[in-house]
Amino acid sequence: MCDGREDDGCCLLFCIDDIAAMITRDRPVIVTAALPYVNGECHIGHLRTYVPADVFVRMLRKMGYDVLFVCGSDTHGTPIVLSAESEGVSPEEIVRRYHEHFRRVFSDLRVCFDYYGSTDDESNHRRTREIVEKLMERGYVYERKVMLAFCERCGRFLPDRYVEGVCPYCGERARGDECDQGCGRHLEPGEIREPVCKVCGSPAKFRERTHYYFRLSAFADFLLSFLKNLGGTANARNYAIEWVRRELKDWCITRDLKWGVRFPNRDDLVVYVWVDAPIGYISFTEEALKLKDSENWERRWREIWMENRATIIHFIGTDIIYHHCIFWPAMLKGAEYSLPSAVVASGMMTINGKPLSKSRGNVIWVADFIKRFHPDTLRYFLIAHSSHTKELDFSWEAFRTRVNNELLAILGNLAFRVLSFAHKHFGAEVPDGEIEDEVISYIIKTRDEAVNALFEYEFKRMTDSIMKLADFGNSYFQREEPWHLIKSDEKDRKRCGEIVKNTLQILKAVCVLLEPVMPSKMEELWKQLGMESDIHEVSMNEITIPLKSGQPLEKPEKLFKPVMS
Ligand SMILES: [Zn+2]
Ligand SMILES: [Zn+2]
Repeated sequence: MCDGREDDGCCLLFCIDDIAAMITRDRPVIVTAALPYVNGECHIGHLRTYVPADVFVRMLRKMGYDVLFVCGSDTHGTPIVLSAESEGVSPEEIVRRYHEHFRRVFSDLRVCFDYYGSTDDESNHRRTREIVEKLMERGYVYERKVMLAFCERCGRFLPDRYVEGVCPYCGERARGDECDQGCGRHLEPGEIREPVCKVCGSPAKFRERTHYYFRLSAFADFLLSFLKNLGGTANARNYAIEWVRRELKDWCITRDLKWGVRFPNRDDLVVYVWVDAPIGYISFTEEALKLKDSENWERRWREIWMENRATIIHFIGTDIIYHHCIFWPAMLKGAEYSLPSAVVASGMMTINGKPLSKSRGNVIWVADFIKRFHPDTLRYFLIAHSSHTKELDFSWEAFRTRVNNELLAILGNLAFRVLSFAHKHFGAEVPDGEIEDEVISYIIKTRDEAVNALFEYEFKRMTDSIMKLADFGNSYFQREEPWHLIKSDEKDRKRCGEIVKNTLQILKAVCVLLEPVMPSKMEELWKQLGMESDIHEVSMNEITIPLKSGQPLEKPEKLFKPVMS
């Protein structure tokens, strides 16, 4: 039985690799977060993917894993072209504006990607064409004649959002690419009934046109066995298995558009945005590696994306499970690329119990939110308020309660109380004393619970365990009543110092374990504890390494401000 006191990392290695059989230290881990579609500002619903992915990456790094974290802007497809047309600007202009916006929001929230690219980057155009050519070579792409909506007034075919009409499955009003008001189905080109041009409002006619299809139906058996072994969350796996069992239709992968990645040898067609968007994961990895290691990047990239020698984990929202668990692995398999190891799907987000909706004004913009509240309080709320795969409801009351009753009353209280006491009675230094077994075993128990929860993608359970350790710190300090010992004899004063040191050790452990959730606030706390190392770089083994007696402590400052009702 390991006591976790070794600080060389070996004991941690033992305990954890059993739990995370799939994620091992001998393979690089690639974590991707779903690409934001850069046609508008970032709202809190977006963050349900990015914050947990960032927490996951920071935690893995603390445990010594070799992790690469990539993301980028999703820039193609008809919504961006339509926005550009209605504003009278180019699609590039829309993309540039929101690409910069998302970069800034991620930096404000300290969601730290190793590389944040754009699917319109040259490397992604190149990689997409290469993959499509490979699929054609291997017989997975074929031509098919389809009847498509054509607007005579505008003189053009109407792809995806350019057309509205009636859903052929449920009869509700629908967009060209999805039945957004009715059954929610993805609609293939040509499926929509009674088409109307979105630009000029004229009824459209159907005209014959040749397009290219990806032979998805050929991958049914592969997908069933792939999905059975896919790691990540059960919601993603089960949804995809159900779908493969029901129906697997071939996908039309070309569109009549100018904006996008040109289809090989065709100047009038681009590939469907859902082809080049996930390929971004591959090209962003390439760019990230070039930045890190310009000499060996290609060998490392091949290990990851061509030779199945890495653990690839996709963080997504439930609305894009189909694309990541069916279309994407089939495309990778068809083009002989590596396959993802895990897909982690977060539940949807609601505001005051109602679906998040920009058109109905039920939305909270991240840029506004962080003008009023510290970004870490939002990170904490998103992680602690609901289990990752469950629905998360935001309300101001719930936010206020989490911040005031947990961050202030438990963590902020522990920090301010013990640091002030040490300041006042021990000359602003860590007192002398041994770390008690009770304290060490509580810290180790917390670490094990947190790590277990992490590998089950239960970030709420992980955070709850760490907050329980902070709570233990408060009750330990309260139970030992060091204020009764301070003015007595030498022996009592020694015991008093021990109590303070043990409470500070609990605080140190909490700080390390919570850094992935609240990186800025824990950086402040780390400094208050007088630590000179970089909290973002320290390993998890720090939690059991005793604080140095005599280490100077900074003047304590309250970590959190209360949220008023
Ligand atoms: Zn429908
Ligand atoms: Zn028209």
